[in-house]
Amino acid sequence: MSRDINNKFWNEELETLPRAELEKRQLEDLKEIVKFAYDNAPYYKRSFDEAGVKPEDIKTLKDIEKFPFINKKTQRDTQGVGSFLGELAAVPEEEVVFISTSSGSTGVPTMSPFTKKDFDEFQDTESRWFWQIGMRPNDRYVHALNFSLYVGGPDVIGAQNLGALCIWGGTLPSERLLFILKTYQPTVIWTSPSYAWQLGEKAVKAGYDPKKDFNIKKIIVAGELGGSIDATRKAIEDLWGAEVYDFYGLSDIFGACAAQCEYHDGLHIAENHILVETVDIHTGEVLEPGQTGELVFTTLRKHARPLIRFKTGDIGRIDITPCKCGRTHGRIHILGRKDDMFIVSAVNVFPSDIEAVIREQSGITGEYLIRIFEKDFTNKYAVEIEKTADNTKSDDEVAEQISAALKARTGVKPAKVIVHPDGGLNTRSEHKSRRVIDERKIDYSI
Ligand SMILES: [Zn+2]
Repeated sequence: MSRDINNKFWNEELETLPRAELEKRQLEDLKEIVKFAYDNAPYYKRSFDEAGVKPEDIKTLKDIEKFPFINKKTQRDTQGVGSFLGELAAVPEEEVVFISTSSGSTGVPTMSPFTKKDFDEFQDTESRWFWQIGMRPNDRYVHALNFSLYVGGPDVIGAQNLGALCIWGGTLPSERLLFILKTYQPTVIWTSPSYAWQLGEKAVKAGYDPKKDFNIKKIIVAGELGGSIDATRKAIEDLWGAEVYDFYGLSDIFGACAAQCEYHDGLHIAENHILVETVDIHTGEVLEPGQTGELVFTTLRKHARPLIRFKTGDIGRIDITPCKCGRTHGRIHILGRKDDMFIVSAVNVFPSDIEAVIREQSGITGEYLIRIFEKDFTNKYAVEIEKTADNTKSDDEVAEQISAALKARTGVKPAKVIVHPDGGLNTRSEHKSRRVIDERKIDYSI
C-alpha cells in the first residue's frame, strides 16, 4: 500500500469537500440517478407519472421534495413483480453480482441488489469508515458479524482492501471467539453493542482480564443504538480498555452508511452516496437540518436498485455544521426506530433514553427489559432490571432509585420497576437483544 498511514483521511479530497462543492456533486448525481430510475425501474416510471413529476424537474437539491416517498412496504410490494429483482430494480439481473436480504424482523425479508460498481463503491465506503476510526494495515481485525445474507457481512472486504489482516469471525460461539482474542491478539473487533458487553462479561467470568489478556484497541458496534449512548459506550470501553465507535447501516443501502469519528459526536454519513432529508413523523413535511424527525434517504449512486426518498423508519437529525475532525460530511444523530417510540403522558419516550439511564446507574448489571402496556386506556411502561450480586440495597430501594432516575431523564415515571437477581433476565444474546415487549392491543403506531 502506498497510502500514507499518517494521513487521517482515507480520501481527503472527498471527505473534506467544501459543502458547496459537495452539494454540487450531489445535485449532479441526483439528476442522473432520478433519470436512470425513471427510465429503467417500472415502479418509478409509474409513481413519478402519477405524481406528475419528471426527472427534468430536478434543478436544485430541494426539488427532490416534489417526488413521492417510498418505504419498506414499497420494497415488499414490488419485489418479485415482473422480474426476480422486481419493479424497483433498474438493471437486468445479469448486471447484479450480489444481493443481501434484511432479517425480516418486521415482515417479509427484502432484498438489496448490487451491481459490480455498486459493490465496489460500497466497499470503498467501508474502507473509509475503518480508516476513519484509525484502522491501518498493521491492524488485525475480527469481523464478528453475521455472514448469512446480512449486508454487514461483506464489510470485512473493506477492511481487507485497506490492508488489515482480517479474521472472518462471523457469529462464532463466545468461547471460540475468546480463544481467538487470546491467541491471535487482534486489535479491532466489530460486533453489536449488547454482545460487546456480554462478551466482556463472559471473558471476565472465564478468568480473563480483557484489558491485559487481549489486545483489543478499538471496538466497532452497530445494529443497536448502544454505541451512540454515551453511558453504554463508556461502560463497554471501561470493561475492555478499548475505544468504542458506533456505525450505522441499513440493509437497503450499505453495511455501514455512517460512522463516528474520534469526537464521537454523531455519525458522519457518506453524503456522496446518500442525500439526507428529515421529515415530520406525522405529516411528512420536510424539516430543516438540525430538526428531529424521520430520516429519509435517497441513494445517489446505487444503480441496481435506486432508492428515491426512502423513509428509513429511523428517528433522528442531521448536523451539517463543521466537525472538529475536519470532515465536511454531515453527522446523523439517531434516537431510535419509529416503531420503538412510545408515548406516555404525551411524552415521546425512546428505549434509548431508558438504556442511557440503566447504564449510568450503579448496583445494577446493565441488562434490562421494557414492557409497554395499557391501563385505563393510557400507555404505561415497566422496566425490569438486574441487581448486581454485591449490591446490599433492598429490591425496593433499587426500584426507587431507578424509577427516580428514569423520571428525571424521560419526564415520566415507569409504572413499575421489577428487580431481578444477576442473571435473572433472559436478555443476553449473541446477536441483537430483544429489549422492548409491546403488550398493547390498540395500534398506537404513528
Ligand atoms: Zn468528525
